[in-house]
Amino acid sequence: MNTLYIPHLLKARDRTQRVEFDEFLPDLETLTPARGWVKLSHQGNYLDVSAKIETIITLSCNRCLANYNHRLVIKPTELIWLSDGAVADLDGLMEQDLTVTSDLIETLPSQGHFVVGEWVYQQLCLAIPQKQLCRPDCAGINPAPAPQPEQKVDQRWASLQSLRDRLPQ
Ligand SMILES: [Zn+2]
Repeated sequence: MNTLYIPHLLKARDRTQRVEFDEFLPDLETLTPARGWVKLSHQGNYLDVSAKIETIITLSCNRCLANYNHRLVIKPTELIWLSDGAVADLDGLMEQDLTVTSDLIETLPSQGHFVVGEWVYQQLCLAIPQKQLCRPDCAGINPAPAPQPEQKVDQRWASLQSLRDRLPQ
């Protein structure tokens, strides 16, 4: 996947570049290639990144350990702060925009590179479900035996009854 030199974005139309991809990631085993696009907008002191990524991964069910295929379709967005070593501005920006831009955590050097494959990899990893179930009602390897109906109380009454029947009146 592409690696973008961040300053080049400033020369792109609308300071925006869209990268499409359809390939396997070296560090993530998937059944189908990671397919989609990433759009980067250079906003001066930060990058506005949005994407659509789609793939199918094979997961192992937490309950029955069977493998099953899980389709991941994500539309992540992220703001990446571009640092010049001028970190002082960050606080001001955070105060202003924190309500609007929820997580301005990632930082890249403004003269650095945006590695598309790495970012896509991270987004997919974040999207892998923690609780992996082959189906919502998976019973597991040793399904618990169906609860036996409570022994009916009246069975005891029945034996008492038969005992009483055998007693002479
Ligand atoms: Zn299962």
